[in-house]
Amino acid sequence: MAFLVPATGFTQRNVGTVIDTVETEQGAVVLYRNFTWEYLGDEPVMMSLEDDSTGMFSNGWNNQQIWGFSRMSPDSVRDTVLYLTNQDHLFCIPYSGKFLRGFMYTHKGLDIRAIMGDTIRASFDGVVRYAKYNRGGFGNLVILRHYNGLETYYAHMSKIKVKVNQVVKAGDLVGLIGSTGRSRGPHLHFEVRYKDVPLDPLKMIDYDTGKLISNTFPVTKKVFYPDDYNVNAVYHKIRSGDTLGSLAHKYHTSVKEICAMNKIRPNTLLKVGKTIRVR
Ligand SMILES: [Zn+2]
Repeated sequence: MAFLVPATGFTQRNVGTVIDTVETEQGAVVLYRNFTWEYLGDEPVMMSLEDDSTGMFSNGWNNQQIWGFSRMSPDSVRDTVLYLTNQDHLFCIPYSGKFLRGFMYTHKGLDIRAIMGDTIRASFDGVVRYAKYNRGGFGNLVILRHYNGLETYYAHMSKIKVKVNQVVKAGDLVGLIGSTGRSRGPHLHFEVRYKDVPLDPLKMIDYDTGKLISNTFPVTKKVFYPDDYNVNAVYHKIRSGDTLGSLAHKYHTSVKEICAMNKIRPNTLLKVGKTIRVR
């Protein structure tokens, strides 16, 4: 590792493309494509609101719509490592309840069964970017932007308890459980996004223990395109008589999910011999 120089500061951390993470006796080391590296255990870099030199809270700061970065494509997001917490910035599970539904093609967050009117808490420290009724299906929605650039979404609330541009700490009340918008009963729909790109929250949070899986979170292609790397994907070769409905039943999924995964419509003719993804 003699030819590598340590990366310093926030800017360099963001320009480095992560090529690998290796375990050493001193701890895990992240290697960047530009021949720099750093210890994962190093002092986490999290700027304060007063010191917003990177434009974290001004870049794409939009109180009117959910897209802060004009729906940025994953391809244009640079690989980086996000620090999630430190001694001053903690994590709090937004709501502990029974897990209903996870991150899928057609569902970009977690659904947690909840009791009407219960408290929903901020998962990390940050600032309220969006707090109003959303007609796209989220119902009463709060979006928080955090100091590392992540955003968290809290949807279907019965009541919003924060105002836009308000500074919040992890654990603070953001709203009350409800069933507004596209919802079939009281639950929390929780999302984590980076530059408008949804991430699987369960890659970051162990919902059973209510704790973070790790204090760092690498943002790489693998995070944004998990299906390209999904070893658990299941494919099916179409046989005579197969329908989307029968395949959905057979593979315990839905027609909607199969259509989304294969970019086809529910009325698309299934050609015998062709292979489609079913899980
Ligand atoms: Zn949901």
